[in-house]
Amino acid sequence: MRLGGLEAGGTKMVMCVGDENGEIFEQVSIPTRTPAETIPEIIKWFSDKNIDALGIGCFGPIDVSPESPTYGQILETPKLPWVHYDLLKELQKELKVPMKVDTDVNASCLGEMVFGCAKGIDSVLYMTIGTGVGVGICIGGNLVHGMLHPEAGHIFINKHPEDKGNCICPYHDSCFEGLAAGPSIETRWGRKAYDLADNDLVWEIESEYIAQALVNYILTVSPKKIILGGGVMHQERLFPMVRKKVTKMLNGYLNTKELKDMDNYIVPNSLSDNQGILGAIELGRQALEEAR
Ligand code: ADP
Ligand code: ZN
Repeated sequence: MRLGGLEAGGTKMVMCVGDENGEIFEQVSIPTRTPAETIPEIIKWFSDKNIDALGIGCFGPIDVSPESPTYGQILETPKLPWVHYDLLKELQKELKVPMKVDTDVNASCLGEMVFGCAKGIDSVLYMTIGTGVGVGICIGGNLVHGMLHPEAGHIFINKHPEDKGNCICPYHDSCFEGLAAGPSIETRWGRKAYDLADNDLVWEIESEYIAQALVNYILTVSPKKIILGGGVMHQERLFPMVRKKVTKMLNGYLNTKELKDMDNYIVPNSLSDNQGILGAIELGRQALEEAR
């Protein structure tokens, strides 16, 4: 089986060819420009790769309902040239193979479940904290869609009393992404996040926000494992801080074997930042299976 994977991001497009075992044969990355510039490049790269199917993990919001007439269309995004762009249809027109599309974070969640640290677990939450915050959720083996798909980066959060910064989300006064994503940290402190490694208050505030978000997810969707990725989570010291705060905030309310084993419950991504592209490959495998 030759499976194509596309991870469509706001800054770059990662393309690969691999197989159902998660082996990647070839991988390239190109900058994301306008659809008119970027889509022909993508089509050209895949056109001589002899792929049987293509899986796509894409930035949101995007229509992820296979039964919808606008399945695979990018919706109202701040990336203006891409608003209402029919990503899936345009690729299908030229490449003519079965395709399946989901959000970038649902793809990452899937990648970790099929090839990574969440193998064999059917209910998993994946969150990336980078330029923005995205959350992918799989419950009982199904990636969560619903009316659209989760946008759980924008849940409301209580501000830390020592946080002198502001929520920078243009839509909300006190949401997680606006308080805790990389650009928010950098606006609050006036320095690059990786230059703040030694400032304890930065990570005290950050871990407080992450813990608040995770507690809300734990209480709402009850994941059996939580995987955290993205640039900000490169600060490894966050993990023990977040685990401790989550335990404290839950305050003994839930008693599960997963929560008793915090070190294996809240974990870093395990696929060297290939979880998204590997999840896309798995979406391709599913597209092929569903087409048969
Ligand atoms: P994207 O979200 O665009 O895919 P990343 O996940 O790499 O990209 O996130 C980029 C953000 O992560 C930057 O805004 C920066 O603030 C933050 N970041 C990158 N590296 C580090 C680091 N080592 N420590 C803390 N924050 C970092
Ligand atoms: Zn918001």
